[in-house]
Order: sequence, then structure tokens, then C-alpha cells
Amino acid sequence: MTTQHQAKKKCRHYSVEYLKYGFVSAPQNQQQPMCLLCEKVFSNEAMKPSRLLEHLTKIHSDKVDKNIAYFQSLREKSRNEKLLEICLLALHNISLLIARSGKPHAIGEELILPAVREVLHTVVHKSPDQIMKAIPLSDNSVQRRVDEMAYQFVKSA
Ligand SMILES: [Zn+2]
Repeated sequence: MTTQHQAKKKCRHYSVEYLKYGFVSAPQNQQQPMCLLCEKVFSNEAMKPSRLLEHLTKIHSDKVDKNIAYFQSLREKSRNEKLLEICLLALHNISLLIARSGKPHAIGEELILPAVREVLHTVVHKSPDQIMKAIPLSDNSVQRRVDEMAYQFVKSA
């Protein structure tokens, strides 16, 4: 009888437990932990709770005594910032779509804006107000962006 000691390769995954050390799952790879404070991403191998704690104590010694609520609000803030970035990129693309469609620019206010709100509400489950406030999809700003893009287009044509 042979006993096979086949070393099972331990693959650690990000666990919500790690938030207490200030780590969230990395946006690029959900299985890797990322430090909320310096955005350093750790490999799977390095993802021992002790290593994460070590990072917190050594690199962010002033945050060691912060509780989970602190990191939760930090995570929320960071998520909102990322979401805002994505939304602004989307706005740029939407403005481009409006410009290409040849539709009146008011369509941004009348149709696109409510549609975006709907997506945010039902898909992302976010209150749209906070995000929409930061997105200037008003007629004027769409007009301005369309003009800018038309200018770029004419220049490059
Ligand atoms: Zn860090």
C-alpha cells in the first residue's frame, strides 16, 4: 500500500476577512488582494493573513488600530471613485454616439440620461443621484463635447 503524499497546491483566494487588514480583491483579478491604502496587489502565494497584517503594520503603521468600519468606508469611497471614472468614460462614448447619430443633442437629456439612470439603478444597484451629479450630460455639455469632437474629426479628416 502506497501512500501518496501529493502536495496539494494551496491556492488562496481573496476572502472578505482580509478587509480587516485593509485589503480588498483586486479589480484586475478578483482572487488577488489589493491594499486599499496604497493599491499594491499581492500574489496568491503572498496572501497569507499574516503577510497582509505584516504589510499593514509595516507600511501603514498609522492605520493599524483602525477598525473594520474604517476600511469599509474606505472601500466604499474607492469603489465610488472607480465607478465615477468609468461613468465619465461612458459619457465620452455616449457623446460620441449622439454626435454620430445626427440626432438633436437634447436627446442626451431626454432619453440617454434617464436610460443611464435606469441602468445604474437596476444593474449596478446604486443610487444614481450621487453618480449622475458628477456626470454633466446636460444639453450644453453634450453640445460642447460634440463640438470638440467634430472639431477633432474635421482636423483629422
Ligand atoms: Zn498598502
